[in-house]
Amino acid sequence: MKNKIWLSSPHMGGTEMNYVQEAYDTNWVAPLGPNVNGFEQDIINYTGVKAVSVLSSGTAAIHLALILLGVKSDDEVLCSTFTFSASANPIVYQKAIPVFIDSEKDTWNMCPVSLEEAIEDRISKGKKPKAIILVHLYGMPSKMDEIMAVASKYNIPVIEDAAEAIGSTYKGRAMGILGEIGVYSFNGNKIITTSGGGALVSNNSEYCKKAIFLATQARDEAPHYQHSEIGYNYRMSNIVAGIGRGQMEVLDDRVAARRANHAYYQENLGSRQGITFLQEPEGFFSNRWLSCILTKSFEQREKIRLALAKENIEARPLWKPMHQQPVFENYPAYTNGVSEELFEKGLCLPSGSNLTKEDLNRVISTINAVMNV
Ligand SMILES: *Cc1c(COP(=O)(O)O)cnc(C)c1O
Repeated sequence: MKNKIWLSSPHMGGTEMNYVQEAYDTNWVAPLGPNVNGFEQDIINYTGVKAVSVLSSGTAAIHLALILLGVKSDDEVLCSTFTFSASANPIVYQKAIPVFIDSEKDTWNMCPVSLEEAIEDRISKGKKPKAIILVHLYGMPSKMDEIMAVASKYNIPVIEDAAEAIGSTYKGRAMGILGEIGVYSFNGNKIITTSGGGALVSNNSEYCKKAIFLATQARDEAPHYQHSEIGYNYRMSNIVAGIGRGQMEVLDDRVAARRANHAYYQENLGSRQGITFLQEPEGFFSNRWLSCILTKSFEQREKIRLALAKENIEARPLWKPMHQQPVFENYPAYTNGVSEELFEKGLCLPSGSNLTKEDLNRVISTINAVMNV
């Protein structure tokens, strides 16, 4: 059996262990300490955002973002349908109602026209949506000017789910800092990883302060343990944050490597009949977290996926839209066919920043062999 080529595997930079060792040596083995503060400062320096709270996961960050925006039982929250389930699950944690919005073809992200239609329709049905969860999928920025114009017209706050998009920019500004609250993920398969972890970011530092309060069991100021709000155990540990500090040192290298993967695939597969790639519109800079192809049909997509699997190469269909998921299919959805077609015809190719030219060539030659029959 040839060695396995993974879709997206962790890629350590080398200095992570120094930060972890320091935490160990100084006995800062807790959900606070110098690495937690240092990692938060690193994220501030990198993105230009005002404030950061590092947390146990991106999912926890989305959950707290909804709480901070006052999302409660029976409130409606608009959410990209073309995403990973973790974008939408926290809406249900709050006993609120997800309302799914389809994508447009230029970025595969939330369609601003469908968004406005949905808002108008929800208002006409008697309920104004409480928040928008906007996902920058596979690292591609959403059409921010158009989305933010709709959001501010109706005065609905935007949570940017930038779990896949740290290192991406829109008109030169980092994803995650353009909405009311932004979310990053440092899960094992993301562009940088702390094994598991996330962050909530905002230019309103009150949100981050409150997020830390909620993430550390919501203790009131008192000598004893006193609580007037429900708390969570969502803070990031100082050990995990040490990995994050090391990873921040190599984030730009990781983005460059992933973008090089995408460019190489496009050079060697793009001209093949029937395979297309998502282009970056002017002013959009994607970290190319995953390199995705669109094939002509479901059958062709499956043929390629199965041929890769046979060669011990991991590839994965694009995200199955939330409105098609058994767990979410009874919630309202404003669809236009775009995400369903992407799911049918799309495939994510191995995209790790640690792939070799040899790995990439193995992927390309396997696909070319399928396309030639
Ligand atoms: C990974 C991911 C999340 C969840 O982040 P975790 O850190 O794994 O909890 C949320 N949204 C999207 C789009 C993701 O890809």
